[in-house]
This record gives sequence, C-alpha cells and structure tokens, in this order.
Amino acid sequence: MRPLNWQKELEREGHRVMFSGQPVAMHCHHYHINLQKTLEETLGKQGVRLLYQSAEEAIFENFTNILRQYTSIKTEKSKFEMAALVFQNSGMGIIRLQEVGPEGGLFVSPSNHHVTGWLAKHGMRDTPGCHFVRGWIAGILEAIYDRPLGYYAVEERQCKMMREKECVFVVTVR
Ligand SMILES: [Zn+2]
Repeated sequence: MRPLNWQKELEREGHRVMFSGQPVAMHCHHYHINLQKTLEETLGKQGVRLLYQSAEEAIFENFTNILRQYTSIKTEKSKFEMAALVFQNSGMGIIRLQEVGPEGGLFVSPSNHHVTGWLAKHGMRDTPGCHFVRGWIAGILEAIYDRPLGYYAVEERQCKMMREKECVFVVTVR
C-alpha cells in the first residue's frame, strides 16, 4: 500500500500553500471567529449557511481528490480514519465517528479549533456554533459515499460553545 505522502499533499508553490493540489488559506482563530461572528450578525441564517456550504464544498472537492489519488484507501473505515487525520492535520481539532452509513450517522468532536477560538474571544453561546464542522462532515460523507453536494444535512445537537461536554453531530439524508 502506498503510504500517504504528506510532503506532497501539503506543499508550497511560491508563497502559496497547497493541499492536495488546491490552495489553502491559513488563518488563526481571530480570523475564523471574526468571520463567523460577522456572518452570523449581518446575514443571520444566510451567513450560517454560507459558512456551512463553503466548508462542505471545499472538503468535498479536496477529499474526493485524495480518494482518487490514494486508491489503496478502500474500506469505509480507513476513509473515515483518513478524514479525521486531515481534520487534525489541518489544525481543525479532533473528530470521532460514532456510527455511520450511507444513510447518515453520528460524529463527536471532543475538541476543535472553532470551539476553542469562540470561547476565547466571546465566551459561552446559547446556540450551537460549529457551522464549519457541520459543513465539513457533510462534505466528507458526500465524498466517501459518492453523493452530490447538499445530499446530507448535519445538525449539531450538543456544542462545547454552550459549555456542553462535547460537540455532537447528527447526519441525515436531506
Ligand atoms: Zn460545537
């Protein structure tokens, strides 16, 4: 089995950082959380959808590329392990799969970048706030199960931004 070549997947082209052939914007929590807060405050639900769909589209394309290149990653289990690795290596945090199938599933994140960033900047929220992670999970499932964008809906049932123990995501077919 060909091992994943991180040096090749994460490379530089001049001043650009590329991930699996696509340019990546690298930002800290100040940027991400300000972006989220601005979108939520100015556009409301539409802003939330924008964040969700951007994450969904970006990881869908990116992960589809990875699966195409690394054909030895065959089983569902190894694809989801790979996805969790990409999440972690991109600095997004920890994501664990509880149960999953083509009809949806359950994911848990005990720690993630957006939670840490939000709590540091704004403290506790009274609504779930991991819109980026929700979109990311949708895009990963669509890539793994070869479904079109928008096929899955991801809802966050518990969120650490609300001081709950972990973030819990439920995936269903839309
Ligand atoms: Zn959350």
